[in-house]
Amino acid sequence: MTQKEECIFCKILDGEIPSAKVYEDEEVYAFLDISQVTKGHTLIIPKHHTKDIYHTDAALAEKVFARVPKVANAIKATYSPVGLNVLNNNEEPAGQSVFHLHIHLLPRYGKHDGFNLKWEVQADDYTPEDLQQIASAISQNISN
Ligand code: AMP
Ligand code: ZN
Repeated sequence: MTQKEECIFCKILDGEIPSAKVYEDEEVYAFLDISQVTKGHTLIIPKHHTKDIYHTDAALAEKVFARVPKVANAIKATYSPVGLNVLNNNEEPAGQSVFHLHIHLLPRYGKHDGFNLKWEVQADDYTPEDLQQIASAISQNISN
């Protein structure tokens, strides 16, 4: 079987697995994440199977990310969260468990609402020269 045939989100798109639909158009499908880390936790996926952000071309990324404000505003209008995190995990060590590109929309209701992102500032470890060197190294690998 190909990766697409084994893909749980492709099965959701085909209607083989049930889902709670939030939004759909020709290119994109949005549905509730079964884990509901916070109330209204929603996933936005492209209808075209692509594994992760590395395998996503600009045209498909445009389509998926273009729908984020629409769905985010609908969640905001419905549950009046105090904030909202937009998250995309790529590869297993970064927390990806379903290998069909998806964007998490996580409405926030306070510090202890179920979602926790540890963000350690390491700014003291880098001089301005270090930052220039890192930026230059990455920049050399930007392709058109
Ligand atoms: P990630 O860990 O970033 O790959 O996110 C995958 C998400 O898919 C997890 O948060 C799961 O809870 C969610 N998930 C897995 N299976 C289903 C399903 N059948 N319906 C809705 N959400 C699902
Ligand atoms: Zn898929």
